[in-house]
Amino acid sequence: MEATEKPRGCVHVDLDGLWAIRECYGLPGNDFLVHDPIYEQGVPNFLALFERFQIPATFFVAGRDADVPEKQEQLRDIVRRGHEIANHSYSHQIGFSRLGRTEIRAELERSQEAIRGAVGTTPVGFRAPGYDLSPALLSELIDLGFHYDSSLLPTFFGPALRMIARYLSGSLIAKRAQYGRLAYGRAPLQPYRVNTNRPWREDTRSPLVEIPITTSPLLRLPFHGSIAITLGIKHVERIVAVLIRRRLPITYVFHGIDLVDLLGVNVAGKQKGGRFFNVPFDEKHRIVEEILALLTRNFSLVLSRSWPDRLSLPEI
Ligand SMILES: [Zn+2]
Repeated sequence: MEATEKPRGCVHVDLDGLWAIRECYGLPGNDFLVHDPIYEQGVPNFLALFERFQIPATFFVAGRDADVPEKQEQLRDIVRRGHEIANHSYSHQIGFSRLGRTEIRAELERSQEAIRGAVGTTPVGFRAPGYDLSPALLSELIDLGFHYDSSLLPTFFGPALRMIARYLSGSLIAKRAQYGRLAYGRAPLQPYRVNTNRPWREDTRSPLVEIPITTSPLLRLPFHGSIAITLGIKHVERIVAVLIRRRLPITYVFHGIDLVDLLGVNVAGKQKGGRFFNVPFDEKHRIVEEILALLTRNFSLVLSRSWPDRLSLPEI
């Protein structure tokens, strides 16, 4: 019936621990590794909404978090409820794609081990910190048997987003690696078998699938959770309407922090994060709810690990 006619969609949650977010924004203070509001509030809040809307989701987890015993029970709960856990590197370094192959491999393997140790299953998907990727990273993913990567943000606004991040972080991450290259703006909007040397291009013989984070079809504007929380639901509704008209699928990304009451958490220096760090919890929760309702109405939502099966490899 109608459900089979809807374009496919994936809902993602980047579960960056507060320590990782703090590093991104260059904020000082405690690193919240053990008592982390992202896990203590963000995870249960997302799980409750996913249950209400009957949404299967994929959570991207940093191995450093999976190694914390206090967080492992929450990770197991995510799996028990039928969601997927994917690898988000071990130490969530910004500039990840510029690491050497040995370091990249060590990050991938250490995180796989940590997640396997926590939940008993091995991830088949990966997202780099900072939405960036490199030929070396994609080759290592293939070598280690990953099925998909979901690091690519097809936007022309990478340089602008980098400037904002630099401003928010007081220049601590004034690096080129975050948000990818201008050419990524030309990448397909649907999952595709990825050319490891030119990740914005398709290579139908590649064993690895890229599941790009969806941006608007024409201008390639990002509209993921934190941007929706800053710009409002109308921005998301407009882009979803275009996707539906063009029968395009969606990969929609939230962050664990989107459902944390930040006003109640004493993150030193958070006033620097401007509106994003200071939106009242009820307002954020309402926007996330509205987005989830919009996604369930318009897309047939699946776990990310089911994508590669549907992009069959040609006979050789
Ligand atoms: Zn992250």
